[in-house]
Amino acid sequence: MSRARFSNVTKERRRRASLRDALLFDVVAPDSRGESLIAEQRVPHFNHIPLIIALAHAFAIAALVASMGLNLPIIAPLAGALLFDFAVWGLLLKRDQWGISPHAMTRFLTIFVASAWGLWIFLALQVEQMTGSMSHGAHILFGCIAALMTMTVIASPPIAVVSGVAAIIFLHLGVGNFSLTASASMLALGTIGYSIADARTMIALARRRIILDEKAHQALRFVTEFESSGRGWFWETDSQGTLTYVSGQLANDFGCSTEDLLGRQFIELIAADDADEERSLGFHLSAKFPFSDMVVKSALEDESYWSISGNPIFEDRGRFLGFRGMGTDLTEQRRSEEEITRLARFDSLTGLPNRAMMRATLDEALRNAARRQKGCALFLIDLDRFKNVNDTLGHPVGDALLRQVAERLTSVMGTHGQVGRLGGDEFKAVLPGVVETGLLESLAKTMIEQVSRPYEVDGHRVTIGASIGIAIGDPGRSCADSMIRNADLALYAAKAAGRGQHSFFQTSMHSEASQRQILENELRIAIERDQLSMVYQPIVRAAGEDVCGFETMVRWEHPTRGSISPERFIPIAEECGLIGKIGAWVLDQAVAEAASWPDDVRIAVNLSPIQFNDPKIVEIVAGVLQRHCLRAERLELEITEGVFLGESATTDETFAKLKSLGVRLALDDFGTGYSSLGYLKKAPFDKIKIDQSFVRGASIAGSRNGAIIKAIVTLAESLGMDTTAEGVETFDDLALIRELGCSQIQGYIFGKPGDAEKARELAEATTVEPDGFSSQREPRQRLMRRAVMSSQGREVEVRLRNISIMGALVEGEVKVAPGDRIALNIVGVGPVGGHVRWATSHRFGMQFDAQFEMGRLAPKKETKPDMTSSWHVAPDRWRHAEGE
Ligand code: C2E
Ligand code: MG
Ligand code: MG
Repeated sequence: MSRARFSNVTKERRRRASLRDALLFDVVAPDSRGESLIAEQRVPHFNHIPLIIALAHAFAIAALVASMGLNLPIIAPLAGALLFDFAVWGLLLKRDQWGISPHAMTRFLTIFVASAWGLWIFLALQVEQMTGSMSHGAHILFGCIAALMTMTVIASPPIAVVSGVAAIIFLHLGVGNFSLTASASMLALGTIGYSIADARTMIALARRRIILDEKAHQALRFVTEFESSGRGWFWETDSQGTLTYVSGQLANDFGCSTEDLLGRQFIELIAADDADEERSLGFHLSAKFPFSDMVVKSALEDESYWSISGNPIFEDRGRFLGFRGMGTDLTEQRRSEEEITRLARFDSLTGLPNRAMMRATLDEALRNAARRQKGCALFLIDLDRFKNVNDTLGHPVGDALLRQVAERLTSVMGTHGQVGRLGGDEFKAVLPGVVETGLLESLAKTMIEQVSRPYEVDGHRVTIGASIGIAIGDPGRSCADSMIRNADLALYAAKAAGRGQHSFFQTSMHSEASQRQILENELRIAIERDQLSMVYQPIVRAAGEDVCGFETMVRWEHPTRGSISPERFIPIAEECGLIGKIGAWVLDQAVAEAASWPDDVRIAVNLSPIQFNDPKIVEIVAGVLQRHCLRAERLELEITEGVFLGESATTDETFAKLKSLGVRLALDDFGTGYSSLGYLKKAPFDKIKIDQSFVRGASIAGSRNGAIIKAIVTLAESLGMDTTAEGVETFDDLALIRELGCSQIQGYIFGKPGDAEKARELAEATTVEPDGFSSQREPRQRLMRRAVMSSQGREVEVRLRNISIMGALVEGEVKVAPGDRIALNIVGVGPVGGHVRWATSHRFGMQFDAQFEMGRLAPKKETKPDMTSSWHVAPDRWRHAEGE
C-alpha cells in the first residue's frame, strides 16, 4: 500500500466514508487489495436481491392471476422475469467460480434491479390500459412490492438509488393515489438515505478492519520471524503473573510444549539461585513497573542467561491485565564476550597469559609485595635456536613446539608463579613472593634443562635451548618497568655468556648496557674514520719451525680509549649489524696482504657466524679471491661453533659451497662451545683449532689438558683434519704440544699478532724462532711498592713492579747476579726471602723461598691478575719485562 494511500486510509479510519465512496464503492473497480477485500465482503450481502425480486414477481403473478385471470401478455413477462431472477441468483452464487468481480456483479445487479422496475412500470401501464384503472387492491399490492423492493436493495447504495428512483417513478405513474405515492416515495428516499449512511459506516469500518488486519499480519510475521530465528521469545502473563503466552522456542528450550508452560507462573522461568535478579524482577512485576534488558539466569539446566523486558498491560479503564514482553538469550553473547576477554588476555597458541596479562600479573604481584613486604621475581625466558626450527621445519611445527615448551615451563613453575608468553619465542614468568636465589636458581636451571630435552613434533626430533634472565623486585620499591628492563639485561647477559644459561640481574649490567650503546655508536664512527686495522699472527708447522700461515685479527685503536679488544667490539658489531661490513673489509685486506706473501703461506680469517649465515657469503669470498688473485686453497676461514647455534638448512649448503670454492675451513676455539662432535661429522672442516684454554699451562704437572688435547688430535687425525694449538706461550707447552702430535702451533712463543710489515718479513724468512719462558708462571700482580733489599750485608732501596706467589720483578740500581740470595723488606708487607733468577743492569727477577701470600699485599683490595685475556692490556710477562 502506497504511503499516500495509507494516509488516506488512516484519515478514513477517523471518519465515515464519503458520500461519493458510499455511492460508487460497489460499482467502481477497487484500486487496492484492501478495497477489493471489502468489495468481496460486501457482495454476498446482495445475494438476496434477486430472490426477493423473484418473490415480488411471484406475488405479482399471483395477485394478477387472482384479479385478472390468466392474462398471458401480463403474466408471461412476469413469469419470464421470475425465471430470470433465479438465473441472476444462481449467477450470484456462482460468481466466485466464474471469476466475476464484485463491482461487475454489482453493476449487473443495478441494471437487473433497474430493468425489473422497468418491467413493472411497463406492466403497470399495461394493466391500467387493459382494465381502465387499477383496483385499489392492485395498488396496494404494487405499493407493497415497491416497498419490499426498496428495502431489499438497502444493502448497496447504487442499487438503492436506482431502485428508489424507479419506485417513485413507478408509483407516480402506476398509482394515482397521491398520499400513497407520497408516503411510498418518502420511504424510498429514506431507504436511500439509510443505505448511504449505512454504507458510509460499513465501508469505513471495513477499511479500518483491513488496516488493523494488515497491521496484525505484519506484526504476526515479525513475531514469527523473530521467534523462529531463535534470537528471542515473547511472553505474556495475566494479572496473576500466570503465563498466557510464550513463544514455542522457549517451550522447546524447556523441552516441553507451549501448553505445558502456559498456566505456570512467569517467575518460575527464572533460576531461583539468582536471588538478586529474582528479587528485582519480582519487584517490577508486583509493582507493575515496566522493565527492560534485565539480565537473569534462566531456570534451564544449561546455566543460560536471558535479557528480559516487559511492560504492564492496562485496559482502557486502567484495570491491570498482566505483563507482556520479550526475552533474548544472552548465553552466546556472554560466551563470545568471554572469548573476546580471553583472547585479549591469553595467547591463543599456547593458552598462556599474554604480554598484557603478564604485565597486569606483575603489577599485581608488586602491589602485593608492597603490602606483604615480600619481594617478587621475574623470569624472562628466551628460546635458543627456535628460529631455526621455524625456518627449517615450518611454522606448524614451530607452533606445536611452542605449545610443548609452554607445557614444560608451566609444569616446572608449578605453584611458584605464573608463566606467560610474550610472543615469538619469548616467555615470561612472574613469581610472587619468591626471592630466595637458591630456589630461583634451581627453578631456572630445571626450566632450561626441561626445555632443552628433545621434542617429538610431527615425527621430527627437535632440540632447542633456553636462556633466562632473572630480576628480583624489592617490596614497595621496584616498579614493573624497571623489573622488566632488569630481567631483559640479565637475559642479555645470559645469552652473551653462551646461552643455555640463567643470569641474575646486577646493577653493573645497566652501565654495561649503556657502555655497549656508546661503544656501538663509536664503532660506527671508527669504521668511517678508518680506526680499524689488521694484525697477523704466525701459525707454525709443529714438526719444524716454518711459518705455514698467519691468522689475521682486527684491531680498533680508539682515539681516547686506546686499543679496544675484538672480543669486546666484535660481539657488538654482530649485534648491531656492523659485522658484515667489518668482516668484508677484514677479508679484503687480509687476502690482499696474503697475495704478496710466498705462495705456500696461508691466511686465516675469522668469520663471524652472522657473516657465515649471510646468503651472500660465498659470493663475497669468491669475489675477494678473484679480485686479489689468491688461490682459494690459501684462504682459511675460521668458524666457531656459534655457526651451529643458528643452524638451518642453509648452513650445510653454505659449507658445501665454500668447500667447492676450494677454501679451507677451520673450526676455531674448539672445546669452548657446545663441542658437539656431531659438527665434525657434518661440516667439512680441514682443521681444528684447539682453544688456548686447553693449551696454556697444559704442561703444568697435574693438568688434565694434555689428555684432552691428545683426544682432540686423535679425533682430528682420524677425520683427516689438521690441528692447531692456540695460545702456546712456553717452551714446556711447546714441547708437550709437539709430543701430543698437533700439526700446527699458534701462540706468543712464535710471535704476537703484528702488523703487515712484520708478517711479510716472517713470511719471507719462512722460519721463526720460538721465544718465551720455559714454563708457565703464576699470575702476577702489577704494583709499585717500595722495599729495602739486603744482600751481602748491604741495604739498598728498590721498587717492586710485579709480584706473584713465586717471585717478584724488582727495579733498582743494584748489582746482583742469578743465584744471589737476597732478602726484601716490602713496605706495608714485611720481609720475604729468596734468590735472583735473572738480572739486567736495573732490574732483576727474584724467586721466593716460600710461597708468598698475596693477601698480605692489600687485604682489603681485590687482587687483579696481570694476565688478562683482552689484548689491549699487554700481558705483563717476565720475559717481556726482561726484554725491556
Ligand atoms: P681467535 O680467533 O681464537 O684468535 C686468537 C686470539 O688469541 C687472538 O686474540 C690472539 O691475539 C690471541 N692469542 C694468540 N696467541 C696467544 C697466546 O699465546 N697467548 C694469549 N694469551 N693469547 C694469544 P684477539 O686478537 O684478541 O682476538 C680475540 C678473538 O676475537 C678471536 O679469537 C676472534 O674470535 C675474534 N676476532 C679477532 N679478529 C677478528 C676478526 O677479524 N673477525 C672476527 N669475526 N673475529 C675476530
Ligand atoms: Mg681465530
Ligand atoms: Mg681461537
